Amino acid sequence: MPTTHDDGTPGLPALAGGADGAQALGPLLDTVLAALADGATARRGPLPPGGPDRVADRLRHTVPPGIPALGTDPHEALRTVVRAVTEGAADPADPLCAAHLHCPPLAVAVAADLAASALNASLDSWDQAPAATTLEADTTADLAALVYPDLPQPDALVTTGGTEANQLALLLARERARAAGARSVHVVCGAAAHHSVHRATWLLGLPEPTVLPTPAGTLDPVDAHVALGALHGPALLVATAGTTDTGAIDPLPALAETVAAHHAELHIDAAYAGPLLFSRHRRALLTGVQSASSVGLDLHKLGWQPIAAGLLAVPDTAALRPLHHEAHYLNAADDTDAGLPDLLGRSLRTTRRADVFKIAVTLRALGREGLGQLVDRVCDHAQRLAELVDAHPALTLYAHPVTSTVLFRPKDADNAHVAAIRRRLMTKGTAVLGRAHAAGRLWLKATLLNPATTDADLTTLLDRVAGATPEGHTP
Ligand SMILES: *Cc1c(COP(=O)(O)O)cnc(C)c1O
Repeated sequence: MPTTHDDGTPGLPALAGGADGAQALGPLLDTVLAALADGATARRGPLPPGGPDRVADRLRHTVPPGIPALGTDPHEALRTVVRAVTEGAADPADPLCAAHLHCPPLAVAVAADLAASALNASLDSWDQAPAATTLEADTTADLAALVYPDLPQPDALVTTGGTEANQLALLLARERARAAGARSVHVVCGAAAHHSVHRATWLLGLPEPTVLPTPAGTLDPVDAHVALGALHGPALLVATAGTTDTGAIDPLPALAETVAAHHAELHIDAAYAGPLLFSRHRRALLTGVQSASSVGLDLHKLGWQPIAAGLLAVPDTAALRPLHHEAHYLNAADDTDAGLPDLLGRSLRTTRRADVFKIAVTLRALGREGLGQLVDRVCDHAQRLAELVDAHPALTLYAHPVTSTVLFRPKDADNAHVAAIRRRLMTKGTAVLGRAHAAGRLWLKATLLNPATTDADLTTLLDRVAGATPEGHTP
């Protein structure tokens, strides 16, 4: 029912905040939760069947484009749109949805994110986010200390993800180079580095990066040594902890030594594998991380946060100084002198939602141990899937997994066949897998991020792959 006054004229829509906000939200949330459940029941799988045209048609049938002149009411709008989008959603909580480091968010984190939306703190000035300012400062310092445990004042920026973390890392490296009198910084990275590294050099006007081949999937320190030796002026080596294609981790201690020998700098893109730091059993895989000038990590991958939850950690708060920026209405010098925290230099964004809120709640609810156990579970699932692939008569395993990524392909299939299997499963809506090139071939890629996955789920996944005969192909 639309909100109306007693005389039938439309009233104001309810607000989420204030003393009455929670009361207004309650019934709407009931509607949302019912629609989420209905939509998921209607879909019954990891992905809606039918492919892009049918999914788009189904959505538009229920939610036609065009802005109506007159609205319906909040419950109708929520029920209709939430149900339709849920029915047409990829559900990362389905164990057969295993692509793109697309994680199933924890219920506690989603609930916290609702509070962040309701409060609508904006972290560009203290007067829009008084307590959230402190929560962000403390939480980012705590997370930075995971990366740099031995340093007195490590810090981290909250980013929208690894892409923004890479951009900021390269920007900070460029500014350090300029402060030292150079014109720019030369980026060296591996062929397995994330595509956003290339975009960041383009965006920042840096020279084209030197790209080292990574036939084994990871950077070779000898190649890095040769490349850095051939460069004049400031250089930044970008290493990856958890590559997009295979989940491999570059040899961080050796690369750190190489970088130091050349007086270059190291940025580690640990968007994927960074949260291994939470795991007592797997933390050692990231040994060397503390020698980097910056480290990016995403908690919307291994971290089980709803998007967005990225971080860029630096060894010391002072490293962030180049981002300082003054806007007369947000951080005037006299306000800062009077003790108002200066937040504008903690991002290139202005209005910025409190993504740290759900992170802080999750850390408190699960602790380091709880998150570490989730990390271990999904990495263990990957080991198990690799064993199952190895034992499967019709499938070939690429390599033993390091993190939670497993590459495999049907025996004797050509690349077109592998690509077609992925699309076939996607179109049927029965499994979502990624794709990756490695060792000169195309592979199916399972990125396992669901802690609740069982052995039976893994077997079903492989059976569906082995049983998928793409149209136009006779395997
Ligand atoms: C996911 C990922 C990125 C990009 O991060 P976004 O959160 O998608 O912006 C960058 N590098 C690596 C290694 C990644 O896994």
